[in-house]
Amino acid sequence: MAEVTKFLLGEDEIPTTWVNLLADLPGDPPPPPLNAQTGEPAGPDDLSPIFAMALIGQEVSTEPEIEIPEEVRDIYRLWRPTPLLRARRLERELDTPAHIYYKYEGVSPAGSHKPNSAVPQAYFNKQEGVRKLVTETGAGQWGSALALACRMFEMECEVFMVGVSYDQKPYRRAMMETWGATVHRSPSDLTEAGRSQAEHESGSLGIAISEAVEVAAGADDANYTLGSVLNHVCLHQTVVGQEAIRQMEMAGEAPDVVVGCVGGGSNFAGISYPLLRQKLRTGSGPRFVAAEPAACPTLTRGRYAYDYGDTVGMTPLMPMYTLGHDFVPPSVHAGGLRYHGDAPSVSALVKQGAVEAVAIRQTAAFEAAVRFARCEGIIPAPEPAHALRAAFDEAEAARRAGEERVLLINLCGHGHFDMSAYDAYLRGDLEDLDMPEQELEDSLTTLPEAPALT
Ligand SMILES: *Cc1c(COP(=O)(O)O)cnc(C)c1O
Repeated sequence: MAEVTKFLLGEDEIPTTWVNLLADLPGDPPPPPLNAQTGEPAGPDDLSPIFAMALIGQEVSTEPEIEIPEEVRDIYRLWRPTPLLRARRLERELDTPAHIYYKYEGVSPAGSHKPNSAVPQAYFNKQEGVRKLVTETGAGQWGSALALACRMFEMECEVFMVGVSYDQKPYRRAMMETWGATVHRSPSDLTEAGRSQAEHESGSLGIAISEAVEVAAGADDANYTLGSVLNHVCLHQTVVGQEAIRQMEMAGEAPDVVVGCVGGGSNFAGISYPLLRQKLRTGSGPRFVAAEPAACPTLTRGRYAYDYGDTVGMTPLMPMYTLGHDFVPPSVHAGGLRYHGDAPSVSALVKQGAVEAVAIRQTAAFEAAVRFARCEGIIPAPEPAHALRAAFDEAEAARRAGEERVLLINLCGHGHFDMSAYDAYLRGDLEDLDMPEQELEDSLTTLPEAPALT
């Protein structure tokens, strides 16, 4: 029999619940977000002006599983279950005894894992009578996912797009507009936050978040949505890991190492948390490796502290690894992994040592991505290119050790809208940018006053 390449599930095997890892975390409950004015734990009242109540409920839920509504599963059926592939050609190219599997989320209409959360976020808002969703987008992936989801539920969608991406990625904007969204270049002059940050011409995710939050908070029938970081977003992404568990069973293997890239943490959480729950419950399981860019090294060099989620300080204080909320990553960096903070849950797991973090330089990431593309065909998005680089290093370690380790990678999106970055890499124009120590120190002086985290 020919060797199997793709491990496929039927539509009836789309998960029926999301996995809430918070219910299984050992030790004290993770520190709560704080209201920045009072210093008290942020409650529903802090969030209800801009988020749907159902999503706030999921944000703080301690139920181990949360049911996926049938209407959401119905839309998931457009692309889920996604395939798991064994990268046999890549294994030969790397001359490694490791078995390399990748879960491919680039098959969604928006080309990434993001619709896994955009669809339920739109659904729960629609249920509560919200007419319009407002958000920010960096590289354009979250904006396109939300534009798609709003279209599915006949809602309006307004997107503040980080200036540099708006200029460099006109086709992502056109994609959002094709699905009916309105897209603004951020910083814009439509908001107080945008006007106050006008000198940061190229924009940043933090500034765009401030703009979107301001618009949503000022309108009765509009809400804000976030594409990463928050518990409920990580929760929605766990369809990825649940499917991967079944698909690895079909392959007759269990992963020794799970690798994902981290921008805000959602795709990493999505593939890891169902497996991490198994590990917490059974006492054995894989290692978990989070790959981040060396130019925005939140988990590897940031401080574990309370910080704002946005630049101008409108959000509650989040307990997380942070580079300082007004850190603006270098605009020449090609990846979308440019957020100053990370999901509190991923941060806590790194702090506890349950998840390992590695920083990857962008040329090394692109080198891995091009090698991957030449073996497997798929051209990865720049973000999972960082995960690929980390996985190559694991494959090399397996080769040196002479061990048949099983690697599972989340290939969370394709790079079809990032070909200018590939072009720069292939021309030799991509620079490696490490964050200078002094810049990091300066940026961390802006942390708000809050209880220390240990
Ligand atoms: C948004 C995005 C990321 C970064 O966000 P996470 O929440 O860390 O997953 C990574 N890869 C792709 C393809 C994305 O669209």
